Amino acid sequence: MDSHDVQSDLKHVLYTREQIADRIKELAAEIDRDYAGRDVLLVGVLKGAVMVMADLSRALHSHVSMDWMAVSSYGSGTQSSGVVRILKDLETDLLGKHVLIVEDIIDSGLTLSWLRTNLESRGPASVEICALLRKPAASKVDIDVKYVGYDIPNEFVVGYGLDFAEKYRNLDFIGTLAPHVYE
Ligand code: 5GP
Ligand code: MG
Ligand code: MG
Repeated sequence: MDSHDVQSDLKHVLYTREQIADRIKELAAEIDRDYAGRDVLLVGVLKGAVMVMADLSRALHSHVSMDWMAVSSYGSGTQSSGVVRILKDLETDLLGKHVLIVEDIIDSGLTLSWLRTNLESRGPASVEICALLRKPAASKVDIDVKYVGYDIPNEFVVGYGLDFAEKYRNLDFIGTLAPHVYE
């Protein structure tokens, strides 16, 4: 394996492509059951949720529409501050819609908590959240995430949409980085 290969930057695999696919199918079955007979608007949060959105939406049997938002958390470094700026807003009017926010990972929960309040103010019939991964810190804030793929330890993960300095999003599995990458 040459040293430019992304695989050499990884420490270990947390979830394989097959495990992720199986878990997403289970989440989709739950969502189909809960929204039986109702149309759902999936709101993906760019860019990390692209892979979850692609796979979850294709596993659903309900009628779905998809829209996207891009947000940025103000604040220094890697800690999100809870003060959020909209970089790209939805194109869809949420009035009367059943909205399901699709996220890659929830850490402090500050971004999602802000986003949920923001979307709720637009008159939707309901707003729920689906996050593929959840870190322990999320339990410290009062945020109800209805659909969670996996609860993971407090480690920085990449792959399947998640980046480090915009790289590794294209991996089809989720893993942790080798120390030489960020040290
Ligand atoms: P928070 O929940 O703290 O407001 O922020 C969540 C956002 O922080 C996620 O959408 C993601 O962009 C980023 N994030 C949090 N933990 C990780 C991680 O382990 N790996 C990566 N790549 N991004 C993370
Ligand atoms: Mg995200
Ligand atoms: Mg990122």
